[in-house]
This record gives sequence, structure tokens and C-alpha cells, in this order.
Amino acid sequence: MERDLMQPGSVEHRSRSREEDNLSIRNEIGNMHDCIVVGGGPAGLTASIYLSRYHLKVLVIDDGKSRAETIPLSFNLAGYPNGIRGRELLRRMRAQARRFGVKFSFGTVTQLAKSGAAFLVRSDGFSASSRCVLLATGVVNRQPKMPKTLHRIALQKGLIRYCPICDGYEVTDKQIAVIGTGDRGTDEAVFLRSFSRSITLVAAGPQHELLDADLDRLDQHGISVIEGPITLFSLTNGGLSLSLHAQSLFFEAVYPALGSIVRSELAAGLEARLNVDGCVEVDSHQRTSVQGLYAAGDLVIGLDQISNALGQGGVAATAIRNDLALQAPLMR
Ligand SMILES: Cc1cc2nc3c(=O)[nH]c(=O)nc-3n(C[C@H](O)[C@H](O)[C@H](O)COP(=O)(O)OP(=O)(O)OC[C@H]3O[C@@H](n4cnc5c(N)ncnc54)[C@H](O)[C@@H]3O)c2cc1C
Repeated sequence: MERDLMQPGSVEHRSRSREEDNLSIRNEIGNMHDCIVVGGGPAGLTASIYLSRYHLKVLVIDDGKSRAETIPLSFNLAGYPNGIRGRELLRRMRAQARRFGVKFSFGTVTQLAKSGAAFLVRSDGFSASSRCVLLATGVVNRQPKMPKTLHRIALQKGLIRYCPICDGYEVTDKQIAVIGTGDRGTDEAVFLRSFSRSITLVAAGPQHELLDADLDRLDQHGISVIEGPITLFSLTNGGLSLSLHAQSLFFEAVYPALGSIVRSELAAGLEARLNVDGCVEVDSHQRTSVQGLYAAGDLVIGLDQISNALGQGGVAATAIRNDLALQAPLMR
């Protein structure tokens, strides 16, 4: 078992309530931050650790919906041979950030504006200004139509999964359903075929929308295709049963492939360049098309993975430090 280095009483262990955090931030309003990080997932937290260790004044504003929070146990993050829960990873990262002086505020950033060279950030009940802003607001997966509690339980049990790259290994040789259709559904089903010979592509709506080329690929890979809609999901015998028409089909793992919503609305509000899917476009240093605005993690096009979010967070923070130093020398 992995030893937890964060012993009670250590700086890392001390945790503060959201109310305490928000109160201390409200007392500081008016002060200019070097960087406000919007989003406290792996990308934003990594950036905040780097920025605070560059002796910069950093505020993280987060509304607590990190995709990482929902990971039951991740086995593909290097350094955790026994896996790590997403919630525990975030807890450790927040503790590390606090240790170096990062301030947190819990709430949604509803408005982001530029005033001269500075940014004005408005969150629930307060506003703050900053010399630059890093957006690390992630994406939200579209979920199948099913009761929220059942979805949460199935996710925690690993019966519903959203990331074949992350956890396809864990469902090796299991009976797997992919909910989706078209290119996206076909790609995900074909990807999962290298983990199991039992893959079924189920339409979320009444009928599939598959081109002949999709049908050929599915056929070549021996993937079953079933029309929807799914009228009921139920937990049975350690798996998930889907009721379709007159039949009920049992699966050991279900992957919704229904796409995601990119949380790039703040970037769009500043007219930063987005791609056709709504992802924020950045240069190789995570700079957006708006000066002083940076982006990292899932909301940027690329591999939606923690390792990528960590890397982009580090790159963004270092670019921010160097860009700020060009405006006014950073000297101790
Ligand atoms: C079920 C599941 C399992 C996964 N398993 C793995 C795995 O094993 N390995 C792996 O590498 N990856 C895994 N992933 C993917 C991984 O979770 C993401 O790639 C990672 O969380 C991306 O980090 P991020 O910081 O970009 O975004 P997120 O972690 O999603 O964080 C974004 C944060 O921004 C906040 N936010 C958004 N908008 C605002 C706003 N306007 N104001 C304030 N806050 C805002 C959100 O609340 C959230 O806290 C998994 C994902 C899912 C859903």
C-alpha cells in the first residue's frame, strides 16, 4: 500500500472550509493578482503550484465539477502503481498549492472582461482583478438519459465509464456496450475492440445514423449493432442491464460516446479563437489569441488526460511567468 506522506498536523494536511476560503478572498478584493486561474482540476492546480513557486500572487476560482473528481480509481497515471482515486489526487494537489500560498475561492466565474492590460473576473458575489488569466475549465461529458443517482452509483462501480484510453485495460475481455452512433460511436467501439471481443454499439435514440463506411468497419471488427432507444437502465448481477424494445441486454461495462460540452464560454466572451468543436486554440506555450489569456487542460484540443493537463499546466505557468517578466522585471 502506498504511504500517505500527508500526516495529520502537517501543513499539507490542514484543510480549510470553502466559507473560510471565500471570506479571506473577499477581504483581499481590490488587490491586483498576478494570475487568476479559473478551474481547479489537474490543469489549473498544477499551474497554480508552479505560479506560486515563482513567487507570484495566484487565486484559483473553482466551482467543483472537475472530471477528475469522478474517477473511481485511475491506473494510468505514472507514479501510482496501485492506482489513485480522482478525489484523493485533487485533495493532494490542493494541499500542495496551499502550502506555497495559493488562495482559493469556490464559485463560478460568470464574467471575464479586459480593462486595459488587466482582467476583471466576476464570480459569485465578488470581483477581482489580475494581470493575466489562465482558463482551465475543462469539459462536461454528455450523459445518457438515466436517473442521476443510478448514474453516480454505476460510475463509482466502474459499470459506466467515459474514457477508454484511461480504463479500457480494466474492462479487458468483458461484455461492453458503447452508447452512441455515427463516427464517434463507431470510433469508440472499434477502439475498445482491442480490449474485448464482445462489443455492442447501441443507439441512444431510436435509430442509428451510420454510413455504409461505418457499417463496414463495425462488421470487419465483429461489433454488434443494436437500435435504441434504451428505455431503462438497471443494476443487475454486478453489471448494467439495458432495456431495449422487448429485450434486456446485460453488460459488464457501458461507455457513453455522446460527446462533451467544452466549457469555453469565458474564452468566447473575450473573442479568443476557438476551433469548430469549441476548444480554445493555443500556441505551443498555451497562449490564446487574446494577450494575457492562457488555456490548459481538456478545454484545449488534445488528449483529454490528466498527464496532458499536468504538462499543459506547467507550460502555461512558465509562459505566464516569463511574459509577466517582460512587462516588469521579476526581482527578489
Ligand atoms: C469517469 C472518468 C474517468 C477518467 N479517468 C481518467 C484516468 O484514469 N486517467 C486520466 O488521465 N484521465 C482520466 N479522465 C480524464 C480526466 O479526468 C481529465 O482529463 C482531467 O480531469 C482534465 O483536467 P482539467 O483540469 O483540464 O479539467 P477538469 O478536471 O474537468 O477541471 C475543470 C474545473 O474547472 C471548473 N470550472 C469550469 N468552468 C468554471 C467556471 N466558469 N468558474 C469556476 N470554475 C469552473 C470545473 O468545476 C472543474 O473543477 C477521466 C475522466 C472521467 C470523466
